[in-house]
Amino acid sequence: DILTQTALSEVRTVDPDHLAGAPLVLAQKVEKQFGTLKVLKGIDLAIPKGEVLCIIGPSGSGKSTFLRCINQLERIDGGALWVSGERVGYHREGNKLYELDDAAIARQRRSIGMVFQRFNLFPHLTALQNIIEGPVQVLGESAREATARALALLERVGLADKRDAYPSQLSGGQQQRIAIARSLAMRPELLLFDEPTSALDPELVSEVLKVMRDLAETGMTMICVTHELGFARDVGHRVAFMDQGQIVELGDPRSVLVDPKETRTKAFINAVR
Ligand code: ADP
Ligand code: MG
Repeated sequence: DILTQTALSEVRTVDPDHLAGAPLVLAQKVEKQFGTLKVLKGIDLAIPKGEVLCIIGPSGSGKSTFLRCINQLERIDGGALWVSGERVGYHREGNKLYELDDAAIARQRRSIGMVFQRFNLFPHLTALQNIIEGPVQVLGESAREATARALALLERVGLADKRDAYPSQLSGGQQQRIAIARSLAMRPELLLFDEPTSALDPELVSEVLKVMRDLAETGMTMICVTHELGFARDVGHRVAFMDQGQIVELGDPRSVLVDPKETRTKAFINAVR
């Protein structure tokens, strides 16, 4: 209805003056539940542009769900979530519901890249074709432009010689590096990593972490859910420890990983170390 529409346009976009220095991601009391199971119980978090935030925590604590809410694979049930100064496409305010149309949600999602535990490459496409698919189909780039950029990205992830290889001909670590290149080809403002090395054989983990580390040095804003505490300590600007749907502890990597304040954080770190 017209009232909702008006309210929507008012809340959706932040005044540009407020945007300067505003966080790229802002979560305020974000709640999510599946049926009666409360999975996110009021997440408050502000992530400035250029930050690398590592999220650690036990299985089932809501880490993946939180990432999925940020890029709108899930709808939040309470609180507020902002990305790049825009409210995400679906939210409640009091008892009012706001919902953007699919095109607007697709546009919001386009600025966010996500790298999963499983690499999700198209099996019938080569490495190069996997990377240019999105830029050509979604961003409308010419094949020529997309290919030039894809080759540069292949170079960047150290796989220039694998441009014509199919995923089945690549190791897990190589596939994951292609998946990262494919995300970057979409020119994301924000990259979400959900345990990108958990499915890899141990000897392949470091090559993927190196690509992520290089990426962090370029100033990319990254949220990395990871069990690699060494990576979190060395590359993360901040580390968040999540447990049972809440951020239990948040701070610089040393304070959270080396000298945690909370009992639950200590127990988790001792258990995984
Ligand atoms: P983590 O990534 O920290 O391991 P998840 O966010 O995957 O945790 O899951 C948090 C909780 O939510 C778990 O109990 C999980 O079983 C539950 N959950 C996740 N996705 C769904 C879903 N689509 N439907 C029902 N329950 C879900
Ligand atoms: Mg998970």
